[in-house]
Amino acid sequence: VVELIDVTRSFPGPPEVQALKGVNLAINRGDYLSIVGPSGSGKSTLLNVLGLLDRPSVGEFLLDGVRTGALSEEERAALRGRSIGFVFQSFHLLPRRTVLDNVLISTLYSGVPRAERMPRARAALDRVGLGHRLGFLPTTLSGGERQRVAIARAVIAQPRLLLADEPTGNLDAQTSREVMDLFEELNADGLTLVVITHDNAVAERARRGIRIDDGRVSVLR
Ligand code: ATP
Ligand code: MG
Repeated sequence: VVELIDVTRSFPGPPEVQALKGVNLAINRGDYLSIVGPSGSGKSTLLNVLGLLDRPSVGEFLLDGVRTGALSEEERAALRGRSIGFVFQSFHLLPRRTVLDNVLISTLYSGVPRAERMPRARAALDRVGLGHRLGFLPTTLSGGERQRVAIARAVIAQPRLLLADEPTGNLDAQTSREVMDLFEELNADGLTLVVITHDNAVAERARRGIRIDDGRVSVLR
């Protein structure tokens, strides 16, 4: 699905920071990869490149064989909407919209045909065990429930790749396990997953693991 070839990402200074240094990484369809590493090592920078939110300064990012460096911003945004789902530590739900609306909203820019939006949103919320919470506001849900809404929103357009940056960072151990159970089910159904985490228990649930230190990737397993 994904290939990074000699990717370097530098942020101009002073002092200039090289957040990624010559990273080579292949992620195959159906992979489940965890990324660990100290704060400031380049994990989010890597995820932003994989998510087409950022471009390499040097090197190439291929998504399903497409050389993304050659694409315009509009083309990248369209590809991102169709191909990539995101889950963040702080959920990023719209507080004044219902659970159902929060999930429906992501169908608007991801190419889901109008007639399929509502059935798919309901199915996605059923899938994460929140079919009985459609009309609730996010503020009335627990942290684990909010993260499951965010996951339903992220997978509704059937992305090729789900990218999660510290998805359990705001959750207790039991709730984290529930979210990880859900990731495992989605992966078993064929979703390609990349999860950044500080939590070894979370990292070990993935089938492959890499580590980043000061912008350089090493393969753990
Ligand atoms: P954390 O675990 O704290 O989230 P991280 O591994 O995700 O850390 P990154 O956010 O990828 O780290 O940052 C890597 C390095 O790049 C850091 O030194 C950071 O300060 C720098 N950096 C990241 N984004 C920018 C930016 N937009 N401008 C300048 N420097 C940046
Ligand atoms: Mg980060």
